[in-house]
Amino acid sequence: MSELPFATPSGYEPSCFTEQPGEGHWFVFKGDQLLVEMGPPDPRPTDDLRVRSRPSWARLPLQKNHNWLGTEVLRTLYLGRLGGVDCYAAEVAGEPPAGFSWQGLRTLFSVLEDAQFALAGRALQLIDWDRSHQFCGRCGSPTEAKRDERVRVCPACKLSAYPRVAPAVMALIRRKNQILLARSPHFPPGMYSALAGFVEPGESLEQCLAREVAEEVGVQISNTRYFASQSWPFPHSMMIAFVCEWSSGEIRPQAGEIEEANWFEVLQLPQLPSKISIARRLIDAVVEEIKGTNVV
Ligand SMILES: [Zn+2]
Repeated sequence: MSELPFATPSGYEPSCFTEQPGEGHWFVFKGDQLLVEMGPPDPRPTDDLRVRSRPSWARLPLQKNHNWLGTEVLRTLYLGRLGGVDCYAAEVAGEPPAGFSWQGLRTLFSVLEDAQFALAGRALQLIDWDRSHQFCGRCGSPTEAKRDERVRVCPACKLSAYPRVAPAVMALIRRKNQILLARSPHFPPGMYSALAGFVEPGESLEQCLAREVAEEVGVQISNTRYFASQSWPFPHSMMIAFVCEWSSGEIRPQAGEIEEANWFEVLQLPQLPSKISIARRLIDAVVEEIKGTNVV
């Protein structure tokens, strides 16, 4: 299986401290939008209902330092080296420099070079963490970054704030040659996906899976198999995907959470999520498995 989007790229050496920001790749964000130089729109339709169109190409600024931004820099983080080139993440507040624009990462998927796209996902999460942990969550004192570790520490009460990763499980339920797909009210119209939910304190992944499935669609599952995991930077999740078998129960969508849920034949699938997400990789793999079984 090829690497999922946002997986650590080969040739990347993480690091969190450098004496002085200098020449390298700059991942400059304003909120969750990345600064890129880009070409004209690609006329081909996108595979993501949340993205109207994608540019034909996009590239990161390769610059000597951040002075060229000509605007206030709110924070700068050193990310390490990619292929021997230093990488920096920064957040700014002002307008983009001439020739550049702000774009969401979904728009840049499969457009920006894969390794840089992966680091952009990491940079987005680290910028968000740095922004949210300038003050101690326990005593309110200003925190300080450490040089040898990615952590912000409170000098008054010593509380450490590491970048937060929130684990979430995803379940694709199979019943013979059908799969269960559902719609959240937040999905673009017409799109269905696998079930997913955040892990609660005290739960194992398997327990979370059984609870989420029972809550969201009211069915019972068995034969749970691990599929794969994906770092998901919207805003800081770890998606852990499983395939499981239906064992009993009829679909009862959870009010407010699930707008609609159905069993789908693999030859009559609805609109699916973009290839940016593990959800799509999971659905494609199980669909292929079912089609393969049918041939034999
Ligand atoms: Zn404190």
